[in-house]
Amino acid sequence: MVKKTGTKFIFVTGGVVSALGKGIAASSIGLLLKQRGLKISILKLDPYLNLDPGTMSPFQHGEVYVTEDGAETDLDLGHYERFIDVNMGKINNATAGQIYESVLSNERRGDYLGGTVQVIPHITNEIKSRIHNVVNENKLDVLIVEIGGTVGDIESLPFIESIRQFKFDVGTQNTLYVHLTYIPYISAAGELKTKPTQHSVKSLQELGIQPDILIPRTEQSIPKSAKEKIALFCNVEKRCVIEAKDQATIYQVPLEFNSNKLDDIICEKLGIDVPAANLDDWKKYVKYVKNPVHNVKIAIVGKYIGLKDSYKSIVEAFIHAGSENRAKVELVWVNSEEVEHNGPGDILSDVSGILVPGGFGDRGIEGKLLAVKYARENKIPFFGICLGMQCAVIEFARNIGGMKNANSTEFARKLKYPVIDLMSDQKKIKRKGGTMRLGAFDCEIEKGTNMYNAYGTTSISERHRHRFEVNNDYIGTLEDCGLILSGRNKELNLVEAIELQDHPWFVGVQYHPELKSRLTNAHPLFRDFVKAALNFQK
Ligand code: GLN
Repeated sequence: MVKKTGTKFIFVTGGVVSALGKGIAASSIGLLLKQRGLKISILKLDPYLNLDPGTMSPFQHGEVYVTEDGAETDLDLGHYERFIDVNMGKINNATAGQIYESVLSNERRGDYLGGTVQVIPHITNEIKSRIHNVVNENKLDVLIVEIGGTVGDIESLPFIESIRQFKFDVGTQNTLYVHLTYIPYISAAGELKTKPTQHSVKSLQELGIQPDILIPRTEQSIPKSAKEKIALFCNVEKRCVIEAKDQATIYQVPLEFNSNKLDDIICEKLGIDVPAANLDDWKKYVKYVKNPVHNVKIAIVGKYIGLKDSYKSIVEAFIHAGSENRAKVELVWVNSEEVEHNGPGDILSDVSGILVPGGFGDRGIEGKLLAVKYARENKIPFFGICLGMQCAVIEFARNIGGMKNANSTEFARKLKYPVIDLMSDQKKIKRKGGTMRLGAFDCEIEKGTNMYNAYGTTSISERHRHRFEVNNDYIGTLEDCGLILSGRNKELNLVEAIELQDHPWFVGVQYHPELKSRLTNAHPLFRDFVKAALNFQK
């Protein structure tokens, strides 16, 4: 019997360094609580001023994660969905930019009746109302709130202040503060150092927050004596210092937390009386990830190579698809400009699959087209996502359809064959932020195709993020030349997926399937692509 007692709030902050994996920690706590029968969700509060990451470079911010309702959000929301398998939406990510925008538009409307508008209480109240909104919309047992950035940053101060106040609004018994830190190993001294953690907790205490649970990230196991020291200096119970040692796979993290009793402690501290977490399914897939039977090489030919966070969801989708196929998918990162300069032969000769991912702008496009051609001619399994699908159409038009210099109007003007083009409603758009075709759209699948084999149904819905589309003026000609239009959006009359005849597996999709892949439920197209790559390898 699940005993529930009103919504509880868990605040996750981080200190010492950035990139600690707060998102993974928040997601792991989420998974454990969900598997104990609780209804949960996660909110990410980002202290930067951009209204959303949609207009930020992938090099700066990594992948933009798109939700069902079409929000362009922080990539941590991808982790949340992959771990807790709950759809996130616009309300699950708020930036300082959004908070200030709301307060300033209230001010312009005259809502503050002549009052002075200040960080406290106006900004902090707006932050708190964002937290309440998530609960009100979803009737949650637990909301986990992750504060982006590092404690001590100027820009995160209003957020820290808001979560400090929150405890008094909803009651001490309903809030819990979890703080992640980093324990460096100084090899010259042969020691793990706890001082940065002590300082980080001090910063938090100065801002009025005493963490209940500390999660120090570490490359080496923290000895008992060091844990005791952390507990003593940071004013935390010994058992509440839960080490987070680097793991071979992020999917192991919740299992480690669970064996360190993190979820038991959380439930006890929040007064939640629920059964232990059922992690059987999760454990099974983690075991597959850690013990692959096969190994297969797949190339990703893109432009944002070097920073793998740019393709975060694709990387994760391959881990899921790999585990389903009992295979380790070895990703070979190929800069498309390199293919453009050196040709595809040497670079792609030993891979068993080629994926061209999404992207913007013309840099490296000719290299991507060469990679598509190489996959088509050598019958190497090919998967084109968004821009990758558009490249597949351009390559087909040029080299099979006889449309010399066919291209997308994103890359060239005054084209004789603009096989990829803007829809008329996109032509009017001037503002860049939040104006692409975004979020979930339906797609009808043609029977007898790879798409149908993968999904096993004719109606699906997938998430989009793009401006350009296959130009309907050319689809008759392309089809006559053998291109298979395997997926369509009937309502908008748009091509959503293409395939080739006489090829083992060649699929291009206008949407982003990687966003909906889960560890315990790999995306069917990634699953089949990896299967085709394994067959090709044989
Ligand atoms: N640049 C292309 C467009 O806007 C593709 C976008 C993408 O790959 N996400 O249509």
